[in-house]
Amino acid sequence: MDASKFKRCGYELVDWSIKYMETLDDRKPLPDVQPGWLWDVVPKEAPEKGEAFERIMRDLEPVVLHRMAHWQHRQFFSYFPAGNAWSSIMGDIFSNATGVNGTNWGSCPVCTELEIIVCDWCCKFLGMPKFFLSQYSCPESEGAGIIQHSASEAIFYSMMWAREDAVRKLRQRFPNKPRAILLNMLIAYCNNECHSCVERGSLMGAIRLRKLEPDNEGGIKADTLRNAIKQDMESGLIPFYHCAIIGSTGITSADDLMEVGEICEQYDMWLHCDAAYAGSSFACQEMRHCMQGYEYVWSTNVNTNKWMMCNFEASLHWVRYKSKAVDPMTGWEEEVYKTPYPPDLKHYAVPATRRFRAYKLWCVIRNYGVEGIRRYCRNHINLAKLFEKYVKRDDRFEVCGPVRFGLCAFRLKGLNEATSRLLDALNFSRRIHMVPSHFHEKVVIRFALCAEYANEEDIDVAWRVIDEFASVILREYEK
Ligand code: PLP
Repeated sequence: MDASKFKRCGYELVDWSIKYMETLDDRKPLPDVQPGWLWDVVPKEAPEKGEAFERIMRDLEPVVLHRMAHWQHRQFFSYFPAGNAWSSIMGDIFSNATGVNGTNWGSCPVCTELEIIVCDWCCKFLGMPKFFLSQYSCPESEGAGIIQHSASEAIFYSMMWAREDAVRKLRQRFPNKPRAILLNMLIAYCNNECHSCVERGSLMGAIRLRKLEPDNEGGIKADTLRNAIKQDMESGLIPFYHCAIIGSTGITSADDLMEVGEICEQYDMWLHCDAAYAGSSFACQEMRHCMQGYEYVWSTNVNTNKWMMCNFEASLHWVRYKSKAVDPMTGWEEEVYKTPYPPDLKHYAVPATRRFRAYKLWCVIRNYGVEGIRRYCRNHINLAKLFEKYVKRDDRFEVCGPVRFGLCAFRLKGLNEATSRLLDALNFSRRIHMVPSHFHEKVVIRFALCAEYANEEDIDVAWRVIDEFASVILREYEK
């Protein structure tokens, strides 16, 4: 492909993208396919000779789109939003077009600088504690913000930083004990409602993790954490880390940061707060009550690629003491990666290479303004509350957990089986798409607002479909 072809195909692709979004609702949110179906559609071997790009574009509809899951569809209420604003798409085009690698400051200075600036912007408008700001914004701060690929990575890295910090402290207490023994003394905690990435991270890092049972609203209370710590300390273990959650994946429940924070401080534990989804709503003043206790947090993450309209991958990650993240990771890298200019953001993550991710986020924030981000989150929150009203109005259903953010978890009263059958029937119809979760042994259906411009009519349409299928399922039980 040469530049003129790129121009022609590029314009065509932009036109196509607009048409796709405009006609999205003529499609079904979920395809009807079985695993492996695509092998019958595309050649089994890579082409020996290159193909014209026009030819590749012609396959867009029959090969890719025809049986695609449409995450931006108005009746797609699954998982969490997958941000995809036009301004983010534009930003990504720019990053891809320049093809830079911000491995360190010297390799592409603007890459590092803009990442720090955007993290500081977000830190400020999300109402995060000042100690997460860079020294450019707050000279007395010892913290830092970076953009990771994902929440899973941010949480994993935080766990590793906390562990290293704990081991360094233990070395002073037990100078003659080998590192392996010290590592084996440590224990971490998390809310059982936390995303599975916490457990996965603990497996990858060979960390002992204890999952704590939440209360009726899905949060961890002081007593639960304190009792677990005391029990484990009596068995000779040393608690070092708690992963709290604000906006759990299942039902968007939240820990009381004030309560768990005080305990973490008392036992000198690292408190991480996973706000991957819900964190974007902190832009709204009325949501700040969820943040009470953030002053105890040592690291936190917010996925702008979930609820801030930025597309994959862009997970904000802040650490209170950057030296705890960077010091263990520096001093021994190859000559090519060494730089005399701090800051060097690659030390906060595993990859040596670094995409120019900050640019698209910069575009989104500038294009919408913080006001636009607030408006977007508020719309989803209001619609989730509207849906909650519909559920509560109907005796056959119950709401599970508080509706605080853009999600309402609900179920048919009674047997789990009925709720599972309802969800299967709804998804099988392909008129709407939702995914299940469990909360305290109950199967729930997650109704998550995803479409950027979701409105009341979408909620009405969804409720009518749910109502129709619930009647069918419950009639079968009456027989
Ligand atoms: N934390 C929460 C609360 C989530 O909902 C998710 C995913 O949905 C994750 C973490 C993992 O996110 P990621 O896919 O960015 O690793």
